[in-house]
Amino acid sequence: MSNLYVISGSSGVGKGTVIKEFLSQNPQFKLSVSCTTRSKREGEKEGVNYFFLSEKEFKNCVNNNEFLEWAEFSGNFYGTKRDFVQQSLKNGENLILEIDTKGALNVKRIMPEAILIFIAPPSLEELESRLRGRHTETEEAIQKRLASIKAEIENSKHYDYVIVNDTVENAVNCLKNIINSKS
Ligand code: 5GP
Repeated sequence: MSNLYVISGSSGVGKGTVIKEFLSQNPQFKLSVSCTTRSKREGEKEGVNYFFLSEKEFKNCVNNNEFLEWAEFSGNFYGTKRDFVQQSLKNGENLILEIDTKGALNVKRIMPEAILIFIAPPSLEELESRLRGRHTETEEAIQKRLASIKAEIENSKHYDYVIVNDTVENAVNCLKNIINSKS
């Protein structure tokens, strides 16, 4: 049986690292590549991290109903391609979406069978220092992201599972246990 896992977590919580580690140990799982209007960070690749679109291109996809869900996050747009998700599930593949909490709750409304997993920081102070430690965002962007954390934590109350990312190893093990229990 194929499952759809939707994983969210506040910026800087390390969810990318946890998912990457999980996927390296479980290559049979597929990660959906989202579309975004935000600019490419150093080291990011088109079609690997995201499909980088202009606002006009993104709006065209919205108007053509190409997204399963989309959301504005920190002043940029992000969306999940509907075709990709439907095709992967049809092919019997287990799929992971790494999306924000608004998008995740929208997915759950459309596809109640989706399994929602929230990766939480050990503490808010820890999260802020991780976010600053990345040196990838301006102060203004960091402030915006910190402001959205409260809403994300509120939304996480509707998730099926919450994993506290104290260490990557523990978080990956928790993720494996949750996923194993579903397959
Ligand atoms: P970042 O800019 O740090 O890569 O991502 C910012 C936020 O957007 C993260 O919370 C990430 O999970 C979320 N995100 C990435 N892709 C999508 C998507 O397709 N849909 C939604 N709703 N959120 C996304």
